[in-house]
Amino acid sequence: MGVNRWTRHSAPIIRTKRWKRLRYEALRRDGFACVSCGARGRLEVDHREPVRTAPERSFDLTNLQSLCVACHARKTRAEIGMGETDPARMAWKTLVRKTGRETEQ
Ligand SMILES: [Zn+2]
Repeated sequence: MGVNRWTRHSAPIIRTKRWKRLRYEALRRDGFACVSCGARGRLEVDHREPVRTAPERSFDLTNLQSLCVACHARKTRAEIGMGETDPARMAWKTLVRKTGRETEQ
């Protein structure tokens, strides 16, 4: 539900011919590989600055990056405030919080 609300902002852009051309330009610039992990195959073109916060940069090639499905999903999760999914990191944070409380008391 939250994700749908989030992606709705870019939907009118992604439907245009202009976007399709630009999307291809971005993929070609990035060598048809994920800029984050280098994976090839199924790629999505992502707005570095989301359309929601920077609509004026929607068709700006420098605001676009090619991401594989996994990296794109990770970035989207981080943007909607669900980034803390790494269990090791969560455990560390909990530990730090606990330790902090103990020293205070
Ligand atoms: Zn990737």
